[in-house]
Amino acid sequence: QPELAGDFGILMGWADEVRRLKVRANAETPLDCKTARIFGAEGVGLCRTEHMFFDSNRITAVRQMILAEDEKGRRVALDKLLPEQRADFSEIFEIMAGLPVTIRLLDPPLHEFLPHEEEEFAEVASATGIGVEALKRRAAELHEFNPMLGHRGCRLGVTYPEIYEMQARAIFEAACDVAAKSGNAPIPEVMVPLVATRRELELMKAVIDKAAKAVFAEKGVTLDYLVGTMIELPRAALKAGEIAEVGEFFSFGTNDLTQTTLGVSRDDAGRFLTTYVDKGIYPKDPFVSLDVEGVGELIELAAERGRKTRGDIKLGICGEHGGDPASIAFCEGIGLDYVSASPYRVPIARLAAAQAALRAKQA
Ligand code: PEP
Ligand code: MG
Repeated sequence: QPELAGDFGILMGWADEVRRLKVRANAETPLDCKTARIFGAEGVGLCRTEHMFFDSNRITAVRQMILAEDEKGRRVALDKLLPEQRADFSEIFEIMAGLPVTIRLLDPPLHEFLPHEEEEFAEVASATGIGVEALKRRAAELHEFNPMLGHRGCRLGVTYPEIYEMQARAIFEAACDVAAKSGNAPIPEVMVPLVATRRELELMKAVIDKAAKAVFAEKGVTLDYLVGTMIELPRAALKAGEIAEVGEFFSFGTNDLTQTTLGVSRDDAGRFLTTYVDKGIYPKDPFVSLDVEGVGELIELAAERGRKTRGDIKLGICGEHGGDPASIAFCEGIGLDYVSASPYRVPIARLAAAQAALRAKQA
């Protein structure tokens, strides 16, 4: 494990002696992962895979996947994407050297993947053999007025399971390859986004387990892994007891959970929230620091209900709040297992976790 030098390193060492909460990082590139490790992250708490798909040499295949007319067409595109995804995950597993890595399956606002320019449509047309006009019709069908509440997260996996199947295969192939090469067997934690119901997770877990079984049989190796879910919708928090029958871990996605609990768009919130804070309606910007009496209450309730079903359920937080000291104190109070923050906030999170643990001891 790389160490931070000098007084800073010593201070972090003291913090680590007293903190109970584990600190992970939100990281999806090799650079993020290396930075996270330098700052002392004890794993990746959120690897957002959609960012990988914007890579310029993949985006045409991604558009092909989204605009394909049927499963066969999608599978042609997915076959092109599989080796790239496998390489993404191999690199991350290598850098994280056996530390836990939570990989979240695709959660795109679909419109971000759709072509807009003529030449983008032309590229997809030449890759698929589908005419530009037909592609434009399909893109128009997929258009959504409210993409953040639309066909994203596991809804994509439910309608097109082959996408999650490809990603799960890439995760397990990479994990087996890295285990064989380094002896540091990764323990992948495969995370399903935007789950609202037990059945959604059950369907997606079946896809993931099937991919794991197939890869382990092909490679002649079996690795441990977990399948869990983001809790980022109020319904998921309320139904956490049922969802924990299927999910082996929960990670609280407080960005979406704040958006959906407060009914405030996370992308437009700045427009009036400062006035709201000035007038004392919210004590702080709820997208920065947990709205303890609202979103926090839902998290606490979900943690309780999840634990009641599955005593050893692993609980973490991976929204922006995972790097906010006041929110970290709240997470300590309700006994989460870890917080996950952007790599540069890992040291702050380590300190905040230590302060929270000390305060809890004094109380
Ligand atoms: C969240 O919603 O809190 C989360 C971590 O996921 P994303 O920000 O990618 O929607
Ligand atoms: Mg989210």
